[in-house]
Amino acid sequence: MKRTLALMLVVCSVLAMAGVVYAQAGAAPSVEEIVLDPPGPHEVQVRVEACGLCHTDVHVIETGGWGMAFPILLGHEGAGVVEEVGPEVTSVVPGDRVVVAWRAPCGKCRGCRRGDPRRCSSNLRAKPRAHRVADGELLSAVLRCGTLADRAVVHEACAVKVPRELPVEQAALLACGFSTGAGAALWSTPVHEGSTVAVIGCGGVGLAVVQGAKLAGAERIVAVDVAPEKLDSARALGATDVVDASAGDPVDQVRELTRGVDYAFSAIGASAGLDQAVRMCGYGGTATLVGVPSEGAALGVDLYRDVFGPKVGIAVTHGGDTIPQEDFPFLAQAALAGKLDLARFVSRTLPLEDVPDALGRLGHDGDIRAVAVL
Ligand SMILES: [Zn+2]
Ligand SMILES: [Zn+2]
Repeated sequence: MKRTLALMLVVCSVLAMAGVVYAQAGAAPSVEEIVLDPPGPHEVQVRVEACGLCHTDVHVIETGGWGMAFPILLGHEGAGVVEEVGPEVTSVVPGDRVVVAWRAPCGKCRGCRRGDPRRCSSNLRAKPRAHRVADGELLSAVLRCGTLADRAVVHEACAVKVPRELPVEQAALLACGFSTGAGAALWSTPVHEGSTVAVIGCGGVGLAVVQGAKLAGAERIVAVDVAPEKLDSARALGATDVVDASAGDPVDQVRELTRGVDYAFSAIGASAGLDQAVRMCGYGGTATLVGVPSEGAALGVDLYRDVFGPKVGIAVTHGGDTIPQEDFPFLAQAALAGKLDLARFVSRTLPLEDVPDALGRLGHDGDIRAVAVL
């Protein structure tokens, strides 16, 4: 009996977990067995229950690793339950439902020291703790998360407690895509009540900008895209007007509707999006770059006519510039209160084994967000 129990414990302690691994440049990601080292000081082990598929994971693949060492463990939009905590952890206990943030203010950099943690230039991180079973090699986790896996070890500041009432596949979206879009409108360039807003690109992040602008009390929200179904989603999520960018110059169309907006957000990677955002702004407006541009992309606006004359500011957001410990619970409560419609963003759930295929088709299968449920 005792021996059986001991054997069971051994089996449990080496129980392999699965994770989506991008093994080398040019290889397709695949589900592999992984193991984790136990959490160290200020680190927690999270049993991942859901992880959204975000374009940044595809970006890692498309750029041959995005500068990270191979092999790479994908996933950075996860939520789950705290399973084990390392020494000196005070903010969470096993059993807490958490969203895994990919950044958390460090408290020490220049931005943090001057009281502006939204501009933290450093990120708290856990030590890499995941290994592949096949050869024991240490895995680099995308954005310090690696949450397309059964479990992840993260810094305690990145394990953000949220209410259990929020379905976990919705909670996961707070980790990246939804917070990026909503945060752009709420915190990066805070939209004021009664203002006019344009949102270029109505994928998951652009639609989250629409939701953030709505929550902030914008009077008019003009959604711009070429896909009719995305414009339908934008209307359902709070856009007051929609512009079909394939039916004529979107800048002319937005200016006709609004005579120039207070805030314009480019939620697409192409640099034309920010050009258009700048030119959609009215006097003193702000154009915010939300989508990640490719290296070498340049602005194509007339500096005098489009920027200096109309006094248009240009801003950039990284992930909505959130303070996860404050903002994720705020967004979760807003969703529970019916002020945000997170449920509509989860267009599909899928098992982990289907993730490699789904990553290959991301953005081409009509999903707002596909979420892996583990
Ligand atoms: Zn992301
Ligand atoms: Zn900092």
